[in-house]
Amino acid sequence: MSGPHAVVVGGGIGGLCAAIGLRAAGWRVTVAERASRFGEIGAGIMLWPNAVRALRALGVHERMRALSTPQAKGGIRTRRGTWLMRMDHSAAERVLGGPVLGVHRADLLASLLEALPAESLRQGTEITGVTAGAGLTSSSGDIDDADLVVGADGIHSLIRSSLWPRHPGPSPTGTVDWRAVIDDPGSPAFGMSWGRGTEFGSIPLVDGRLYWYASINADTVTENDEDKEFLLRHFRSWHHPIGQLIASTPAEAILRHEGSFLEEPLSCYVHGRVALLGDAAHAMPPNLGQGACQAIEDAVVLAASAAAHDSVPEILHRYDRLRRPRSQAISRSSRRMGRFGQQLSSSPAVVMRDAALRLIPSALSMRGMSTFASWEAPTIRPDR
Ligand SMILES: Cc1cc2nc3c(=O)[nH]c(=O)nc-3n(C[C@H](O)[C@H](O)[C@H](O)COP(=O)(O)OP(=O)(O)OC[C@H]3O[C@@H](n4cnc5c(N)ncnc54)[C@H](O)[C@@H]3O)c2cc1C
Repeated sequence: MSGPHAVVVGGGIGGLCAAIGLRAAGWRVTVAERASRFGEIGAGIMLWPNAVRALRALGVHERMRALSTPQAKGGIRTRRGTWLMRMDHSAAERVLGGPVLGVHRADLLASLLEALPAESLRQGTEITGVTAGAGLTSSSGDIDDADLVVGADGIHSLIRSSLWPRHPGPSPTGTVDWRAVIDDPGSPAFGMSWGRGTEFGSIPLVDGRLYWYASINADTVTENDEDKEFLLRHFRSWHHPIGQLIASTPAEAILRHEGSFLEEPLSCYVHGRVALLGDAAHAMPPNLGQGACQAIEDAVVLAASAAAHDSVPEILHRYDRLRRPRSQAISRSSRRMGRFGQQLSSSPAVVMRDAALRLIPSALSMRGMSTFASWEAPTIRPDR
């Protein structure tokens, strides 16, 4: 393939989507991934209709859809199991314009990799330096300078720290998060349960698997226990089947993660011939389940801009103008959601939160979500 050349730094969800989109826009693409093979952690992910539309624009929707499960019925409950808000498949279709999907991260990544030719993929290649003019140094020494560099290298981005040296980098979200995928012991509904500074969520996946996660305010997490023991103790009085799900998970399948995000928003996502994308640009707390969805949106908008313009400055100007306000607004909402939702820890505030949620009609809460889920993807149409 000829055409201008882009190097995408990082082969996570955002980087692979950017590579697929830029190829559709007529670019030659190299993805440099430092890990020895492309892969994702053993956890699930929720994809909102905005991300599903973006995947359709990238042409990978069909394959991914076969590997994902629409979340049929669920919502938010208290730790005792009382419903605070309900959501079902047909309401999601009606209010959000499409289904909310649960997918294993490894399956999503595999379906993205299938859409890229082997010659675009360089695993075991760490980018060690970058210039604003799209010059690169790498561990393998064989990555050519590019017309465009896409920094999709995650929250601890080298591209961001090199070219945005004044940015302070990630801050803690104040939570510790655990995640696991298990064989589903009995089809629990999709949903979240909220207590004081604690959330437990479960998302059915294809093939009878279930993804569960727990998020607990870091100041209440004791460090002297093994994770599974700690979780079993922490959730022992929570509604069925939370204790059972944790108990049936092998200890080694439980992943632990100290939450962090980019508290200080970047004033620009582009610098010279370099663009930041995904967590490198706007890592957000996971409360809305939108981090990867926003990375996928970034990829489609960057590709659509690349298809519509010849000049890299024009492409990047348009990308920054379209992506920064939206992704940063969603990051702020996600943070607010944590502060007034699952991270609330004082008992009176939790009582008020639960009472307020019970009073709000579910359709109204869902309409709030439609502000981010109703996004329409641009078409990637190479006119050049
Ligand atoms: C607990 C939790 C739950 C979440 N749940 C959801 C959810 O339900 N829905 C959702 O949309 N989002 C969710 N997210 C957010 C989502 O996981 C991230 O936003 C998304 O994975 C970011 O993708 P990315 O491609 O930008 O970065 P990453 O996935 O971090 O990928 C970066 C890649 O770059 C590579 N890399 C780094 N440095 C270099 C280098 N110098 N050279 C070469 N390669 C390099 C890394 O190895 C990695 O493969 C969740 C996050 C957390 C923490």
